[in-house]
Amino acid sequence: MREVKLNYIFGPVPSRRLGFSLGVDIVPFKTCTLDCVYCQLGRTTRKTVKRGEFVTPKDILHELSYVLDQRQSIDHITLSGSGEPTLNSNIGEIIKAVKGITNTPVAVITNGTLLYQKGVRNALCNADLVIPSLDAVTQEVFDRINRPHSSLEVGRIIDGLKSFSREFGGEIWLEIMFVKGQNDHLDEVEKIKTIVSEIYPKKIQLNTVIRPPAESSAEGLSVEELQAIETILGEKYSVIGQFQKKEQDANETDIKSAIVNLVRRRSITLPDISSSLGIHVNEAIKYLKDLQKQRIIRIIVHDGQDYYMQMDEFREGSH
Ligand code: SF4
Repeated sequence: MREVKLNYIFGPVPSRRLGFSLGVDIVPFKTCTLDCVYCQLGRTTRKTVKRGEFVTPKDILHELSYVLDQRQSIDHITLSGSGEPTLNSNIGEIIKAVKGITNTPVAVITNGTLLYQKGVRNALCNADLVIPSLDAVTQEVFDRINRPHSSLEVGRIIDGLKSFSREFGGEIWLEIMFVKGQNDHLDEVEKIKTIVSEIYPKKIQLNTVIRPPAESSAEGLSVEELQAIETILGEKYSVIGQFQKKEQDANETDIKSAIVNLVRRRSITLPDISSSLGIHVNEAIKYLKDLQKQRIIRIIVHDGQDYYMQMDEFREGSH
């Protein structure tokens, strides 16, 4: 089979929520409506609410057909990646095109900020699962934690989420990211509880800062602190657990380029690299050392854990 260079597709990566998730990146690197203090991709370089045709369905299908032919274990095809996917004005067509060639469920991870637009809600209607986030329900906390584009109002975003929940036929799993001292105080948590009860998501997942954040001051909550919030919020809420799944078969022809492809979009730990590529950790270490020597990847330490990421000079946009 002729090798296809993957510009938009990465993984499958082991995801704590989605099993083996094949990522599809449909916006250029750090093109987003927000600039969250906890973002694992660093500061937003292009903060915008203007949607554009960044990648076409044809480009995605070309790469996706090649990856699917390799018959790896994939639980979800996930539109996410380097920015906010709903900024791609082709997202509806891309979802339809993907569903036209595979039965694997399609998930969209979005920050939900554009769901107040009817056109954006309609574009997502063919997805199987949408995972929007909502970290704050008051403008002050929203401004502090998510540092939104100046045109975005949290009240309008909440209304958009409510409308989407009424219209969408698939599942909605709402994610709330907690940052210490930012949105974890009782007052905001109680308000979040009230608003979320009006959105009716199928699942509500609580998360906290685990990977190295954009701002080193963005601190995660301890498991106990997160569980205390879970108790306040009620039984529908669950703390996202660590990923555990069968090992992926080793079927990457070029393991080094597969590793680079994994670390291109986000920082990732050694066990995740090993599990995602179906190789022993010792084998992964061998390749990682080579890539470090070549100054293609580097290690950063966060909360006592090593994360591998691409050197900045090798980082590229998704198109
Ligand atoms: S975490 Fe997501 S929504 Fe927030 S800045 Fe990063 S890419 Fe954008």
